[in-house]
Amino acid sequence: MGIAFKTDLIREEWESGKLDKRLKGIVMMLAEYMENVYGYDPLTITSLFRPFDAKNPRSPHPHWRGVDIRDRDMPNGVADGGVGWCNWKFKYDPKRPALRTALRHNVGQGSHIHLQVMAESSPGLS
Ligand SMILES: [Zn+2]
Repeated sequence: MGIAFKTDLIREEWESGKLDKRLKGIVMMLAEYMENVYGYDPLTITSLFRPFDAKNPRSPHPHWRGVDIRDRDMPNGVADGGVGWCNWKFKYDPKRPALRTALRHNVGQGSHIHLQVMAESSPGLS
């Protein structure tokens, strides 16, 4: 199955072609990794596009460069394992090593995995 969607709207966003292609590739590779390594399937996307919000001006979601993934049904080792693998394989920006492609956080709507790519240059996809 691979990838599931919280809502039909999110599925439409995923299929619209607007999501950053590099990020789409990372999500698909993460889904494959989670299935192969942990038997966790499918990966559920809970949010893609969100409009600009002045309270969070640096969010990549308004730019189609952010994806949120459900982690509440993942054992801790599975969620952290997936996040660690993403950050090992895909560097957000080699010049800014403190910034991450993947992280787990809670910004008010519950814990989730957040994936992001920087504007323009490659996060490490070859
Ligand atoms: Zn996010």
